[in-house]
Amino acid sequence: MPEKLSFKDKVVIITGAGGGLGRVYALEFAKRGAKVVVNDLGGSLKGEGHNARAADVVVNEIKQGFKNGDAVANYDSVTDGAENIVQTALRAFGQVDVVVNNAGILRDASFGKMTPQAFQSVLDVHLNGAYKLTKAAWPHMKQRKFGRIINTCSPAGLYGNFGQANYSAAKLALVGFSETLAKEGFKYNICVNCIVPLARSRMTEKIIPPHILKQLAPEKIAPLVLYLTHESVNVTNSIFELAAGFYAQVRWERSSGQIFKPDPKTLTPEALLKEWGHIVEFKDKSFQKVEHPVQLADYNMLITKARQL
Ligand code: NAD
Repeated sequence: MPEKLSFKDKVVIITGAGGGLGRVYALEFAKRGAKVVVNDLGGSLKGEGHNARAADVVVNEIKQGFKNGDAVANYDSVTDGAENIVQTALRAFGQVDVVVNNAGILRDASFGKMTPQAFQSVLDVHLNGAYKLTKAAWPHMKQRKFGRIINTCSPAGLYGNFGQANYSAAKLALVGFSETLAKEGFKYNICVNCIVPLARSRMTEKIIPPHILKQLAPEKIAPLVLYLTHESVNVTNSIFELAAGFYAQVRWERSSGQIFKPDPKTLTPEALLKEWGHIVEFKDKSFQKVEHPVQLADYNMLITKARQL
């Protein structure tokens, strides 16, 4: 592992890099020698309108601030311009090494009041946008046997949050998407991870109290994005939570559970009622452990366990 993580000769696409977290990632990558495609539609928080200024400002910051790095702007929406975002990277720099799916919007409303358009538009940007860009970059990564992909999830995706059924659905979908791509990308040295950040940006500035916002500089998120996308790091298939300088990994956990005899006379809702405490027990039992599944085979183990009776 090198002492300093350099991104010299690496080409990084960051969506939504005209502001907030994406801008900080772009500056950090460029500082370490990367060539960065600064994609941003430049719309409102709800995803309305567009403006080239957001991406242009960040490209100028890079060009004026970091002589080792380079940058090019792209103003496409991830919803319908993904192919062109990748072409921008190929035209300007000849390759794609890293994709950071970061672009995002919010259309919050309690579920009863959420319009179908509000639901769909949030899925379109976060989930379908990440899918389309990754799909366009994937063959280039596969061909060169190198790729690093970061998908941006959210606590609302992992745990749910009032008023964000659309956003939660999109963000948790990105976890499943990432876990599958991590498996498919493994033999091509394509690593795929999810980050679950909390940071100060226009997304959070009106909902988090100012004294907490002060601790949530987006600069405290960027180090993990750079670490996970470096060529010397092959961490994959993982989810990380990070905020205010705290970094941790999140994983699935299966309770130690309960095995029932597959007899319709005894395997009844009433039997579940009686044994419920054992089904949802998260302590190891003498014959069965709490487990942390990471692949389908770990699920299929359930059948093996049931056969034990
Ligand atoms: P932000 O609004 O500052 O940045 C999002 C950027 O995406 C904006 O610059 C916007 O113009 C751009 N964008 C929106 N739609 C686009 C589209 N269709 N095509 C291209 N660009 C588009 O917000 P942020 O807080 O920096 O959020 C970055 C990512 O992090 C988002 O995916 C967000 O959901 C996620 N996230 C943020 C937090 C947080 O605490 N800030 C928490 C969890 C997840």
